Amino acid sequence: AKTLRLILGDQLNSTHRWYKDKNTDMIYVLMEVMQEQEYVMHHVQKILAFFAAMRNFAHQLTKAGHHVVYIKLDDEDNAQSFDNNLQSIIKKYKITRFEYQLPDEFRLDEQLKNFCNKLSIDHGVADTAHFLNTRYEVRDFFGDKKSYLMESFYRAMRKRLNILMQGDDPTGGQWNFDHDNRKKYDFKVPLKDPMTFKHDLSALKEMIDAKGVKYFGNVDAGNFGWPLSRKEALQSLHFFCDELLPHFGTYEDAMLNEHISLFHSRISFAQNVKMIAPAEIVSAVIAAWHKNKENISLAQVEGYIRQVIGWREFMRGVYWAKMPEFENLNFLNNANHLPKWYWNGETKMNCLNKCVGQSLNHAWAHHIQRLMVIGNFALLSGSHPDEVDDWYLGVYIDALQWVEITNTRGMSQFADGGIIGSKPYVASAAYINKMSDYCKRCHYDFKKRHGEKACPYNSLYWNFFDRNRKQLENNPRIGMAYRLWDKMAAGEKEKTLQQAAEYLDRVDEL
Ligand code: SF4
Repeated sequence: AKTLRLILGDQLNSTHRWYKDKNTDMIYVLMEVMQEQEYVMHHVQKILAFFAAMRNFAHQLTKAGHHVVYIKLDDEDNAQSFDNNLQSIIKKYKITRFEYQLPDEFRLDEQLKNFCNKLSIDHGVADTAHFLNTRYEVRDFFGDKKSYLMESFYRAMRKRLNILMQGDDPTGGQWNFDHDNRKKYDFKVPLKDPMTFKHDLSALKEMIDAKGVKYFGNVDAGNFGWPLSRKEALQSLHFFCDELLPHFGTYEDAMLNEHISLFHSRISFAQNVKMIAPAEIVSAVIAAWHKNKENISLAQVEGYIRQVIGWREFMRGVYWAKMPEFENLNFLNNANHLPKWYWNGETKMNCLNKCVGQSLNHAWAHHIQRLMVIGNFALLSGSHPDEVDDWYLGVYIDALQWVEITNTRGMSQFADGGIIGSKPYVASAAYINKMSDYCKRCHYDFKKRHGEKACPYNSLYWNFFDRNRKQLENNPRIGMAYRLWDKMAAGEKEKTLQQAAEYLDRVDEL
């Protein structure tokens, strides 16, 4: 009897129980397929990182003595879809049982379920042994509730896993240290260059070009910096713990013209393809804190751990609770096109020029750049959430749909009407100016609402509330904005709305 085990590109977990035994009757398969290049247009760095990490993983498994079949994108007999390639391998090796790990994307989950339903041989599915929750634990935690509150899930996780707890109470007497964190960067502590590696992926790039894969974004393929193996992922994690964690929380929301990542760990790709697991990240962060309490405050540690055991697990849980309906939600009925410069960064708005430009150059931006600059503008400009999703799912190296759509369509675009966030994340230029040095170098004036060089965020901000009054006015967390708007002098309101209309008319030229 021969078993075939499929490993997807985001299932590179070498600590999985699958690999404990070596057995010549067990064949592992990884494949590069056009199917995965075509469901959305990806950033070139994302394609290269996935393929290179998959190839490394296959190499490691082979070296450890496993039987691995690796199908390259340009292999002659590659049928370019999971189903057809699996069928050929099953035939070729006379496979009698097929196994796969639970996919984290709904699309692939459906495809593999259907594939198995049609199979005449025995089959089975294993957990990925990566997340701290099963698929449906978040759904069961919230039951019938209309909106899901991350904070209550997070507290339950802290208790369940006994992380930063003293008995039943949170260490330090509070659950959340946001108040101490989220400061503008004040140049009081030095910045570090992010940890990067030096991979030569030129041959891989030539291969995807020769195959005609469509992509966007920029890359220096001869000098590719992302961690592509578990070893490099662990190096990145330790670099974060030693060098960046001491200031992570303090400046987690800050943005700079001259630095792309400040104190962020940039291990989201490694984590989302499962080269490292959330449990080991949490252990490393706690251990670093215990070792170096002089320099690492509890606020830094709590801020990071909330992202890993709170937000990340929560978003995945919301995904499985709400898919596939979530994919079509458009609570505010947004229907405009995403401004053209999302694809080339060519806008005079400096914050967007920097954040979009960085996304195109590095396939990465940090949370606040994604949410409060890029997503904020997409929402203020009334862009259709389908277009916004396509952009986010394609551009970021760490973007798998489970984490992308919940953060984008849900948290950022409020297309879910408040399942994830209790209010839309919109802000005027005052916020961007508070958290960054972008406005200092901008063509536009962050202080002006209308008139020559008025910052587009300002008029669009009020236009957003005005045009969405019906859907938002009764939201208790938004009432304040309407009270301010209603108090504004009629002439001022009119000029603001005129300015917004004029900007929306030529949004591609801003
Ligand atoms: Fe962005 Fe407006 Fe500031 Fe320019 S002035 S950087 S467009 S917020």
